[in-house]
Amino acid sequence: MVLERYPKAVVLDLDYTLWPFWCDTHVVRPLKAVSDVVVIDSCNLELSFYEEVESILLELKEYDVKIIGASRTGTPDIAKDLLTMLHIRGNPAITYFDCLEWGTGSKTRHIQRAAKKLKLTKELANGDFVLFDDEKRNRDVSSINCHFIHVPNEGLTRHTFIQGLRAWNKATK
Ligand SMILES: [Mg+2]
Repeated sequence: MVLERYPKAVVLDLDYTLWPFWCDTHVVRPLKAVSDVVVIDSCNLELSFYEEVESILLELKEYDVKIIGASRTGTPDIAKDLLTMLHIRGNPAITYFDCLEWGTGSKTRHIQRAAKKLKLTKELANGDFVLFDDEKRNRDVSSINCHFIHVPNEGLTRHTFIQGLRAWNKATK
């Protein structure tokens, strides 16, 4: 699917946006990779991305969109381990991210920090950032001109991705 245009940066929440679990309450170390795309924890819980996440990350890379991870998880180490153990096209998923931001509190701060690090503060102010997130409370990022797309229960799908970027396109024309 080729869109008319892409934002400069896409910000992705992790828990229940990229994968179907909370790192800080569901996952118990140690983790073990059973393949490039499946990791199990000490309780044999299978940990993988939602099915269509891989193609979305590949598409963002192809169109030179910066990929930012922003998570409020209390266990960033587990999230980082998972992003390192899960692979996309033979490369650790973490290598697809241009920036990862962690911490409790509003995602406006995560996004502002990322924009600064990537030298994209002007682009953020111009509405060229989009956040995909399953938690509606993170809609407050619109206060810093980041477009918010709500991710429904099934996690990030191509449908939500395309619809979301079309809505952003319309809103920023
Ligand atoms: Mg989430």
